[in-house]
This record gives sequence, structure tokens and C-alpha cells, in this order.
Amino acid sequence: MHHEIVSCSQAGHSIDLNGISKMFGRMTALHPTDLSVRKGEFLTLLGPSGSGKTTLLNLIAGAIAPTTGAILLDGRDITRMPPRDRGIGMVFQNYALMPHMSVFENVAYPLRARRQSTQIIRAKVQDALERVGLRGFEERKPRQLSGGQQQRVGIARCIVYSPAIIMMDEPLGALDKNLREQMQAEIKRLHEALGTTIIYVTHDQEEALNMSDRVCLMNGGQIAQLGTPDDLYFQPRNRFVAEFVGESNLISGRLSGNGRMTMAGNQSVAIPGGQRPEGSELQVMVRPENVRIVGVGEAAVEGRDVLNGEITMVSFIGGMTRVTVSTENGLKIVARTVSGRAETRPEPGARVQLSWLPSDLVVLDD
Ligand code: ATP
Repeated sequence: MHHEIVSCSQAGHSIDLNGISKMFGRMTALHPTDLSVRKGEFLTLLGPSGSGKTTLLNLIAGAIAPTTGAILLDGRDITRMPPRDRGIGMVFQNYALMPHMSVFENVAYPLRARRQSTQIIRAKVQDALERVGLRGFEERKPRQLSGGQQQRVGIARCIVYSPAIIMMDEPLGALDKNLREQMQAEIKRLHEALGTTIIYVTHDQEEALNMSDRVCLMNGGQIAQLGTPDDLYFQPRNRFVAEFVGESNLISGRLSGNGRMTMAGNQSVAIPGGQRPEGSELQVMVRPENVRIVGVGEAAVEGRDVLNGEITMVSFIGGMTRVTVSTENGLKIVARTVSGRAETRPEPGARVQLSWLPSDLVVLDD
């Protein structure tokens, strides 16, 4: 059947925040921040509770006014523009649907508010419902829908009027894990189909890594790191980023020359090259999946540094097994290995050797 695509898509628009900040009384919710969201980009604001994600979203939406700075939409200053004129659509965690209205009327609402004709409304609502897989649900009330279906209505109501920018505030926060993953894939597909710029908020790091072109990791009202999912995972800038995104082992020591770092117990390890002077204090990070574990007596890989230790904990978490090792020089190192059946998994108390490739160590800035 021929399906006419009603104009619901538009090339993305850009947002620039220049020195934007927000104080509530004497409390700084957001320090002066520069951030450019590119046309058509899927950018995620990630961070712990209270880090300033919602504040940043509300500033862009115009729900609150900044203390300093300017907001540009496609280069045009919208800092003082009322929210309804900005063309920014919102999808909320609690769906914010109107309970007494049908699915059709909920999705039609933004179009009625813009006084569009009955004919256009019917076509656009049907297109939006088609895009979120809800054709045939027009007459239902929100309470007759599952959580995932309600969130699809919330998304349809947002895309129906082709906003310049779509912002989603923890849209999948109320859903269980499987449905969350399914909806993540749907939102990604929708983003690709529409080409709209999306600013997405979550405190779930896996969701952020999975969905985003770039992730803006917030901490204490500041950007801790802005980069691609790969940047954040493989090149975390500092300790906060390394610990928030994925699991990490942090080891501190002192640069001892010839590309090595001396750590606890006067043991040394090779580290990736850098421009630091000998004697500097540093911290390096290694991901658990890059830590190799072999039993004592088994051959360690040639050219690798080896730490001896004893397994203190083994956690079977499905596909992966987490093994915690206390090393002889007083470190606690976590390794992740692909799981085998119970009888083949390592056991607490076993003496082991740990090693990794020098190139798997990341030197952190602070
Ligand atoms: P969450 O993940 O919990 O939603 P968040 O990263 O969105 O957190 P924000 O809501 O932006 O964090 O809050 C940043 C800081 O600003 C917090 O310390 C918060 O208590 C404070 N804050 C936010 N709104 C107000 C307000 N209206 N008045 C006073 N302080 C506020």
C-alpha cells in the first residue's frame, strides 16, 4: 500500500550555548558552560543526580532563564524568547499525557494549539502514530496502554509538529530493562528517519553509550567530558569520567623514567608514552576486560608486567564473570572474563598472576 509521508522530517537544527550559567539564590546549579549541539546530532547529557542535566535542558527549553550567557538556535539568539516560540519539543519520563483524551487527541493537541486544519491534523497524527508503531490505537485512552505504548504516544505527540529540536528527559526511566532496550532501538531508528537534532538526558551510562553521537558527561554543574562514546570509554580524561563510564581499575604511582611508573610495593609497570617529567605523580586506569588472569605457574605473556595476587571474590553475572584480586603490593584489581560453567570458573583463595598490555593503560589527567 502506498503510504504518503507527510512532512514530519526536517534537516536538523543547531544549538549553541555560550557561557550559559544558572544560580538558584547562592547555589550554582550550572557553572558557565559552552556547548555546541550540531545539526541532526543525537547528544546525550549524562551524569549523576544533581549534576545539572535538567537545569541545562530547562535553560534550552526556556523553562528557566539563565543567570549569564546566551543560547543560539541556528545562530539566532533565543535567550529571551518565550518557550512556546522556540520550536523545541519535549518528551518526559512520566509521559505527561492527558488522561481523559484519546491517543488521537493527545497526539493532535500540539496541532490544534497551532490551529491547523482538520485534514492536516488527521494526516499528521496518522503519520506520527505510524512512525511509533501505534496505528489502530487512536481511540484508546492512556490508561488502556502499557508504559512503553504510553511513551510512544508521548514521542508521537512531540514529533507530530516537527519541532526544530527534540529534548527527551529520561524518557525510558520508568520502563523495565528489556522494554528499555527495545525502545532505545526504536528511538535511534526514529532519529535516523527524521534527522532531527535530539538532546537526550539519562543517568544510565549504557543507554548513553548505545544511543549517542556524542555524550556530554556532567559533574557538579560542569561538563566533565564531551566526546563520542568511544572517547569517553577509551580515553577518559580524569578519574570521575573513568569511574562513571564503565568499570575501571585505578592505579597511582610516580613516573620513574624509561616509560615506567613505580607504584605501591616499589613495583613498576610500563605505561603509554607521554610528556610528563620524571618524578611526576600519576594515575593510570585499566578496564577489567583488559586484565588477563592466569594461575601461578602458567606462562604469563612475554613482555607483559605481572602482578601476583590472590582471588578474593568471584561474581558470575551471566555472560561475564567478575574476578576481584588482592595483589601482593596492596592493590585491589577487578578482571572480567567470559564466563564458563561453575566448575571451570576461578575460585576465591586461588593464587594468580595478573597482566595487561601497556597500551591498555590510560594515563589520567587528574
Ligand atoms: P537528576 O538526575 O536528579 O534529575 P540533574 O543532573 O538533572 O539531577 P539538576 O536538576 O539540574 O540536576 O540540579 C542541579 C543542582 O541545582 C542540584 O543541586 C539541585 O538541587 C539544584 N536545583 C535545581 N533546581 C533548583 C531550584 N529550583 N532551586 C534551587 N536549587 C535547584
